[in-house]
Amino acid sequence: MSVDELVQHPDRSSPSLLVERQSGAAPLLVERGGEATEAIRPERAAPGPTRVGVDVGGSKAEAVAIDPSGAIIARARRATERGSDGVLATVRAAIEDLGSTDVASVGIGIPGQIVGGTVRNAVNLGVAELDLAGELERSLGVPVAVQNDVNAAALGAHALLARDKSARPSGDLFAYLNLGTGIAAGVVLEGRLWRGWGGTAGEVGHVSIDPAGPECPCGQRGCIETFAGGASVARRWGRGGELPVRDVFDAADAGDPHALVLRADLARGVAAAVHVLVLTMDPVAVVIGGGVARLGDRLLDVVRSELHERSARSAFLTSLRLADRIELLPPDSAAGALGAALTPTR
Ligand SMILES: [Zn+2]
Repeated sequence: MSVDELVQHPDRSSPSLLVERQSGAAPLLVERGGEATEAIRPERAAPGPTRVGVDVGGSKAEAVAIDPSGAIIARARRATERGSDGVLATVRAAIEDLGSTDVASVGIGIPGQIVGGTVRNAVNLGVAELDLAGELERSLGVPVAVQNDVNAAALGAHALLARDKSARPSGDLFAYLNLGTGIAAGVVLEGRLWRGWGGTAGEVGHVSIDPAGPECPCGQRGCIETFAGGASVARRWGRGGELPVRDVFDAADAGDPHALVLRADLARGVAAAVHVLVLTMDPVAVVIGGGVARLGDRLLDVVRSELHERSARSAFLTSLRLADRIELLPPDSAAGALGAALTPTR
């Protein structure tokens, strides 16, 4: 199940998929393979080579080009084709849609295990193993970096936040919490990803919060992901439907007892993830993104109220101001593609 199947994408009904527009941008509609792609190419870009980033999701791929100042100067989106050949074709086409010349580097954010430039076990994309960096470097002739999609979004979210809130000291530690089919966080320390010893930093979705809880595919019981992961919520809801997590919230609003339990579990799981991140890393902010975050304030409200409830019993937790540290990544911010573009090449 893709993230977009969990929560309705606001653009779903529109053939024009671009949301963000830069000032002075001239929109350009490109139609290829029956898929509408809109790209922006503003007149005022800082001189110098551009860097390109592509965020490959289960249903769509988003590409951006950034100028040497880090500003997004072109943006395009198209449907993701499955399989290794499909992913390569999608990435190449999305880059072409940007119409960028003088490209210095390409970064890719993609789900799955990343080893060097190779992606493994990207189940949602139908990719078992693909030397993405090698294949793209051969055809594009520029250095290519490959990054896990959550880490790429963390880098991008950090860059967006640093731009919006210049008052924040640049040395601060920052966490991005991705709520999609699963749950994981990316941690950015002084502008760079902090991966930990073996790349496990931020895997908060597999912190167990209930030793007697449901079995998790990772082999533990009661992982945060089993309560708050979008796929788990959809499975426990069990009524099918196109948009299970939103359906759960709607039904909970209407007083459905099962939905109330699922919504409370989701809030408990997300709050636990924030709690763990703050107590282990003390980030200045925990920015929440991913498909489930498209619920917006409906999600923030239940998570904040759960955090307030926890804090009410503890002067220590109250002093940490957990609820004040969370904020939502603006929808359609292109954080994943931006972070991919910012990923250093080898
Ligand atoms: Zn687990």
